[in-house]
Amino acid sequence: MPIPDTRRGLLIILSSPSGAGKSTLARRLMGWDPTLSFSVSATTRVPRAGEIDGKDYHFLSEADFKALVSDGAMLEHAHVFGNFYGSPMAPVAAAINEGRDVLFDIDWQGAQQIKTSLLRDHVLSIFVLPPSIAELRRRLVSRGQDSDEVIAKRMQRSWDEISHWDGYDYVLVNDDLDTSFERLKTIVSAERLRQPQQPGLRAFVRGLQSEFEENVA
Ligand code: ADP
Ligand code: 5GP
Repeated sequence: MPIPDTRRGLLIILSSPSGAGKSTLARRLMGWDPTLSFSVSATTRVPRAGEIDGKDYHFLSEADFKALVSDGAMLEHAHVFGNFYGSPMAPVAAAINEGRDVLFDIDWQGAQQIKTSLLRDHVLSIFVLPPSIAELRRRLVSRGQDSDEVIAKRMQRSWDEISHWDGYDYVLVNDDLDTSFERLKTIVSAERLRQPQQPGLRAFVRGLQSEFEENVA
């Protein structure tokens, strides 16, 4: 009797106030498991130095972004820091159909939309908190990619994002990065083993039952 090895794909959602470290944790998770697929968001924000179109984001004009939304091509979308962001549906559907997990780096509005979508049963949501507000600011400054004005805007909005922390399945306080990453791997590994994530179990147990009835009962 073959031991089941199929899995139902998870939609792993990471959210945090800007600067708390979710992109860093997401990159590490992608390096840990190459079967994970990253949901490359579409955005109308301008690319930062070093960001690659199609890899970090799909950088779109507002008109192109709005056309995708009205075509129903976005799983979720939101307006964040004056720009539009959204998760294209097609790559997510393809990964889920193949039983693969998808990793999202999105805000609380996007997380809520996915949690109420048809794919809600696949969601694993994780919120990343900074160890302090002073450290959040320090990280935003040390990232060195945003102007003082943009950093001030992100700090202003951080409490709005943090106030949604308790709607998530798990919360990580990202103090020491290695510790947070270990915890993140533990969460993902355990969630993959949850009974509903293993659709092959039902047939496997039926097989065990037949074997039991033939040999023991
Ligand atoms: P986010 O994606 O949440 O906006 P980033 O992952 O870009 O945040 O992290 C912001 C900055 O903080 C980056 O320079 C990153 O290297 C740094 N950083 C992330 N996690 C930690 C940590 N645990 N300790 C110290 N610095 C960190
Ligand atoms: P950044 O401009 O720093 O890359 O992202 C700003 C914020 O937008 C972050 O909180 C990030 O998680 C969020 N974000 C990025 N992509 C998406 C998306 O596709 N949908 C939603 N709802 N938020 C997103």
